[in-house]
Amino acid sequence: MQLVVVVKLLPTPEQAAALAGTLRTTNTAATWLAEQAQTAARRGRTELQRKHYSQVKAVGLSAQPALHVIRKVADAYTTRAANLIAGNYGPKGSRRRERVESSPIRFRPDAAQPFDDRCLSWQYDTRTVSIWTTAGRMKNLCFTGSADHLQALQLYRQGETDLVHRKGVWFLYATCDIPEPETPEPAGWIGVDLGLANIATTSTGYRAAGRALRRHRERQQELRRKLQAKGTRAAKRVLKRQRRKESRRAIEINHQISKRIVVEAQRTAHGIGLEVLTGIRERVRLRKPQRAALHSWGFHQLGSFIEYKARRAGVVVVFVDAAYTSQTCRKCGHTGRANRPNQARFCCRACGFVEHADRNASHNIAARAAKQWGSGAQSAAPTPT
Ligand SMILES: [Zn+2]
Repeated sequence: MQLVVVVKLLPTPEQAAALAGTLRTTNTAATWLAEQAQTAARRGRTELQRKHYSQVKAVGLSAQPALHVIRKVADAYTTRAANLIAGNYGPKGSRRRERVESSPIRFRPDAAQPFDDRCLSWQYDTRTVSIWTTAGRMKNLCFTGSADHLQALQLYRQGETDLVHRKGVWFLYATCDIPEPETPEPAGWIGVDLGLANIATTSTGYRAAGRALRRHRERQQELRRKLQAKGTRAAKRVLKRQRRKESRRAIEINHQISKRIVVEAQRTAHGIGLEVLTGIRERVRLRKPQRAALHSWGFHQLGSFIEYKARRAGVVVVFVDAAYTSQTCRKCGHTGRANRPNQARFCCRACGFVEHADRNASHNIAARAAKQWGSGAQSAAPTPT
């Protein structure tokens, strides 16, 4: 599996200037090439290379960096075309879409630039790299990173590396191809129930409560509504910053929850049963304000974090259909809406079994995962979208 390892660079002022100059030159070249591509009939890599390679090279790039610039531009247009088709810039004929379609792609002067092994080599023992820059080959550029990341780098780094400049700090994003650990036969199953009141509840007793988070999100939504109503430029700026902050927070929380679950599964040699995430909206019937909250929570992200961390840890994940797991008694199997007198409580009408509703559901999910695994239908994980 692929893992991106980030190391921080520790350039001297002269080295930093050379790096900055390199990004500026490559991105100026990319923006120029994107302008040519915008009006061209064909924007494929081969076409751009045939027509503009020598021009791109003439701004002071050597062969490989020039080819990377061409590919960067071609890829950006491919991505844009896909986004246009997917309607991510609005429907056909909308102003936003037309604006995107009719203007050439621009690259920030410090946008990331890929380097291959010919332009970037690693000296792990001295923790330095040697890198091509527009000011010549630069040696002895120091880097640093966490111990396990450095080890992964040394053992598994493969292919290209991106040079990234963010808020005054320089990074290398290196791709590592890490072998997947052996997955032993699970000793049991941890069922994970996802929901609004509790983001995640496991059959082994872990619960990530959603209440505080929900309140926080409600407040944020209120604030957003106010800002949207204002509609001024300043308000839009605040909104944008707000949205980024929220999304970082959600990512952080999803990382924590997924880590907890996967670490426990690994420690106890259990597999993880997860519900197929496409069902979650249909499954939960909600009042309107809650609906917005559910849609905005990153359940897909949480699912993909669990899946990804589990793969790295050699933990099996089985995706199950979670229909009726919240209404079915895990003791006797009786299913009915009346088993759920309210959101939090499960109370079986047939056998009288009482439990927290999400906990009961998580046990049903664990049981379904075990059954599915046992029946040999090793569920291929659906890729969360
Ligand atoms: Zn029962």
